Amino acid sequence: MSILVFAENTDGNFKKSTLEAVAYAAEVAKNTSTTCVAVSIGNVDDTKAEELSKYGADKIVNVKNDKLATFIAEPFAKILANISSQENASIIVVSNTYSGKSIAPKVAAKLKAGIVSGVISYPDTTNGFKVRRTVFSGKAFADVDITTPIKVLAITPNTFTTLENNKTVNLVSTDSGLNDADFNTTSIEVTRVTGKIVLTEAEVVISGGRGLKGPENWHLVEHLAEALNAATACSKPVSDMDWRSHSEHVGQTGITIKPNLYFAIGISGAIQHLAGVSSSKVIVVINKDPEAPFFKAADYGIVGDAFEVMPKIIEAAKKLKAQHA
Ligand SMILES: Cc1cc2nc3c(=O)[nH]c(=O)nc-3n(C[C@H](O)[C@H](O)[C@H](O)COP(=O)(O)OP(=O)(O)OC[C@H]3O[C@@H](n4cnc5c(N)ncnc54)[C@H](O)[C@@H]3O)c2cc1C
Repeated sequence: MSILVFAENTDGNFKKSTLEAVAYAAEVAKNTSTTCVAVSIGNVDDTKAEELSKYGADKIVNVKNDKLATFIAEPFAKILANISSQENASIIVVSNTYSGKSIAPKVAAKLKAGIVSGVISYPDTTNGFKVRRTVFSGKAFADVDITTPIKVLAITPNTFTTLENNKTVNLVSTDSGLNDADFNTTSIEVTRVTGKIVLTEAEVVISGGRGLKGPENWHLVEHLAEALNAATACSKPVSDMDWRSHSEHVGQTGITIKPNLYFAIGISGAIQHLAGVSSSKVIVVINKDPEAPFFKAADYGIVGDAFEVMPKIIEAAKKLKAQHA
């Protein structure tokens, strides 16, 4: 028996959400007296893959193949399912990222496993196998019992800590074991935004809404983000109007984030927006309308015109940064 975890990489590096997933799987393995097997797929260096042992992986399977350098759901799912069977895995853990979301159901179907996505708890095995997940866009919880022998858990990023849990390195480097017929789709080009803090992993997020009037005013968001080492985000209408890229759109139909600090500037706080940000630890709202619904969800609220308030906050943040430089 083992607990298997998918160690997702971007350009050969592991994301924070991957380290969280490995630490989570290691904790479940410890609690169920079994071992944690991390599976990396792509072109990750063995020395980089070995780092997963620092987060609790007892064994690392590094699947290397040029055809897997970019993520393609079907072959990745097949490899994970194959290795799960070889390792006699009873639980397969993935992070509920875009890639994780697309392979988790495929792996579950191949292994005839029960699946829960959006997991926010460790399994409770006192009576069956229960995990907690968020439902209704984060407004409620559901405790789900999985009864199949094999279980797939897609855990919510930014929910579990990346516990350092040093283990002896045990790395197996292998080919995919797939043939050409398994690669029936090809990723032609992947264009990544570089040099920016990844929104889903940011500790601090500065977000702007329609109240900022137009893309020419986004320097207010960007300057504060720069001073606070933060990622930038926006409401849906802002990306729909092409003021900002859709990769910054947070909410029910966008990205779900859980930063330590979320700044909402000129955003009304519609329920669909809150669905993606309400789990932030501290929320600061700047809005000129004292009746804006966002204030109900805010830890700190500033009633004022963003064009007057923001320059003062940016100045203060820059001073703070200089003091700590
Ligand atoms: C099915 C569905 C899914 C959706 N999914 C999402 C989603 O994922 N994410 C999302 O964001 N929305 C989503 N929406 C849209 C959502 O309902 C809201 O329409 C949207 O969030 C509003 O964006 P906003 O707050 O930027 O704009 P507005 O509602 O126009 O609010 C602008 C705010 O700025 C304030 N303001 C104006 N001028 C200033 C100023 N000078 N200084 C300070 N404040 C000022 C105003 O008081 C107002 O509160 C969805 C809607 C539907 C129906």
